[in-house]
Amino acid sequence: MDKITVTSPLLPNLDEFNEMLKDVWASKWITNGGQFHQRLESALAEYLKVPYICLFTNGTLPLLTALQALRISGEVITTPYSFVATTHSIWWNGCRPVFVDIEESTCGIDPNKIEAAITPKTTAIMPVHCYGKPVNMEAIQAIADKYGLRVIYDAAHAFGVAINGKSVLNAGDMATLSFHATKVYNTLEGGALVVHDEATKNRIDYLKNFGFANETDVVAPGINSKMDEVRAAYGLLNLKQVDEAIEKRHQVAIKYRAALRNVPGVRFFDDMPGVRHNYSYFPIFINAEVYGMTRDELYFKMKANGVLGRRYFFPLISTFSTYRGLPSAAPSNLPVATRIANEVICLPMHHELCERDVERILELIVN
Ligand SMILES: *Cc1c(COP(=O)(O)O)cnc(C)c1O
Repeated sequence: MDKITVTSPLLPNLDEFNEMLKDVWASKWITNGGQFHQRLESALAEYLKVPYICLFTNGTLPLLTALQALRISGEVITTPYSFVATTHSIWWNGCRPVFVDIEESTCGIDPNKIEAAITPKTTAIMPVHCYGKPVNMEAIQAIADKYGLRVIYDAAHAFGVAINGKSVLNAGDMATLSFHATKVYNTLEGGALVVHDEATKNRIDYLKNFGFANETDVVAPGINSKMDEVRAAYGLLNLKQVDEAIEKRHQVAIKYRAALRNVPGVRFFDDMPGVRHNYSYFPIFINAEVYGMTRDELYFKMKANGVLGRRYFFPLISTFSTYRGLPSAAPSNLPVATRIANEVICLPMHHELCERDVERILELIVN
């Protein structure tokens, strides 16, 4: 039986890619802000409706660099319900992550629980738009303003997500993206940092190139996180087809919802009013008592039948040995995240799922 994978990378047309590679080869300019790098930055800024964007070599380094650029220190409030890179970036900056519980309606950090976690050492909040579902950015900004905190959004899942036509990437001080192969839009590996003004863009561009402001001047202890020309060219081609891929994902979501709507014990997200979603993930949440099977029983049943879901995000970051000693990592501090991590399965979701695949997946869940 063919396996149905949870995701499948959006791949550019090989002939078109080859044509672009000929240009790269001819120019002999293969990295350090070449023509395709510049073109991809402008194209992405336009597509995403953001003023300034800086390309990176993956989606973790923009997180690290954002905290560096804003000179974040002390404690950073964040969510345990994410990919480990979110918390790692705080740790790599010598800061202490402080976990705050999530809200069930978005799986993002619960704004009502942030204030109780603020101490005199808190300098920033790092929320995640989990599954591309926007968190309550106004509530978070109000808290940040009240306490003088920075807000850095890990928007790795939120490529193209907008509310009433406005990109979620413009909220807070900075927002990061990941263009990893498993994401809605990929450049093989890649990522970006969205900033609001030109001076900050220049500073980020120095930081991702060892801190070089020009040939002879190093203005900060920078890092190397540049995107090369080959991946920038690949990214330009993928940008042309990402809307079509998102629409195909949307159609899959519609089928999933129609079939699962009346299955007792299975919860899922509907679209939020006014939000342009990217359908990057399709999480379902299993209430074992009502559904009659635990999340893991269903997960392994699917696996045995060649349907590879993923338990994103299980285990919680706060349970990993590196972080579980932190006071805020106690499960009693994170009841909603702890429960949801035990309920979730992300169903296969990508642009290549066919009618038959969706039926095969649903047959295993609807019983
Ligand atoms: C994918 C992801 C990252 C890391 O991105 P990479 O490109 O893999 O380095 C960070 N945060 C979240 C929430 C992610 O899903």
